[in-house]
Amino acid sequence: MLLLSGPNIAGNEWKYVKECLDTGWVSSVGSYVTRFENMLAEFSGCKYGVATSSGTTALHISLMLAGVQRDDYVIAPNVTFIASINSIKYTGADPVLIDVDPETWQMDLDLLEEFLENETDEKNGELFYVKDGRTIRCIMPVHVLGNICDMDRLMKIAAAYNLKVIEDATESLGTYYKGKHTGGFGLLGCFSFNGNKIITTGGGGVIVTNDEELAKKAKHLTTQAKSDAFEYIHDEVGYNYRLVNVLAAMGVGQMELLPGFIKRKKEISSFYRDHLTGTGDISFQKIEPDVDCNMWLFTLMTEKQKEVLQILNDNQMQSRPFWVPMNQLRMFANDIYYNKEDKSSYIYQRCLSIPCSTNITNEEMSGVVEKIKSVY
Ligand SMILES: *Cc1c(COP(=O)(O)O)cnc(C)c1O
Repeated sequence: MLLLSGPNIAGNEWKYVKECLDTGWVSSVGSYVTRFENMLAEFSGCKYGVATSSGTTALHISLMLAGVQRDDYVIAPNVTFIASINSIKYTGADPVLIDVDPETWQMDLDLLEEFLENETDEKNGELFYVKDGRTIRCIMPVHVLGNICDMDRLMKIAAAYNLKVIEDATESLGTYYKGKHTGGFGLLGCFSFNGNKIITTGGGGVIVTNDEELAKKAKHLTTQAKSDAFEYIHDEVGYNYRLVNVLAAMGVGQMELLPGFIKRKKEISSFYRDHLTGTGDISFQKIEPDVDCNMWLFTLMTEKQKEVLQILNDNQMQSRPFWVPMNQLRMFANDIYYNKEDKSSYIYQRCLSIPCSTNITNEEMSGVVEKIKSVY
């Protein structure tokens, strides 16, 4: 089976994990956690990193640190992996789902501005939704597939409306906008290391920030809010959200390989684009010139989505449709979905991701291309 985006364990992972097992430093305290955090902070150009048990828990803590409370709103794109919206719900807040750009597949900033202008107002420095008076606390751009929206514009909009920015940068490790890495634009940024991300710890995440106070609070909240080194004194309701040392050890090994992985993901993307351009109606995600994209998960768009999915999966080439748009899921059906032409649906009906693990060979990719072409 050719995996969609499988792990590539090719460096010092075994050695570092073995060291944890041999020394007994397996749990939530250990030198690899700190090393991993520092590597992520350095790579993303942020001052601090706090490792978490998953990207989802990183998002949950970040929203709490941004002051999101029960009955607040958080603005997010309608096309994303469910973890973004689940993390909003965990805080007791609700999402305002904004439709996405049909070419870049990121949040549509025209629609975002329209929503803010027409549907919100300000009182005592806080933005609220006119229809029910509830506070809109922050905005969560999701860098879908490692691509990123016009961040200069998004940050301007956020500042104009007094909204904090929490980046769901989970898919974008290795992506730069105007030379600046993702994760450091807003108050806090979150990365994920689950099994199909560009590097993996099996499961894991990290929160990056340039704010020392927030970094300290993030570490505190993710470690049961214990406030005394010796006695079991806890000063608030905390969470057991810390990444364990064994997994961080794997992460350090993976981080050493990251530059090579990014290079390979880009080669894979170029290969597919070169070989599939001009085949039927196939088109690709638009990457703006300001964006240096990590090309995490290769995804194409076609009217023949169902047929291509069928032939690839029938031939052990793992391929998947895009996420069901959030407004179409039962739990979020009653949440606000701001759109004009429901581009989310359009994208969902046409997009599919194809095998692009960093260890895929050119021969294997040629095989995928051949099967796809046979559909047209
Ligand atoms: C992977 C991912 C997450 C976090 O997932 P975890 O499995 O909890 O690490 C969050 N948002 C998006 C868009 C993702 O792709």
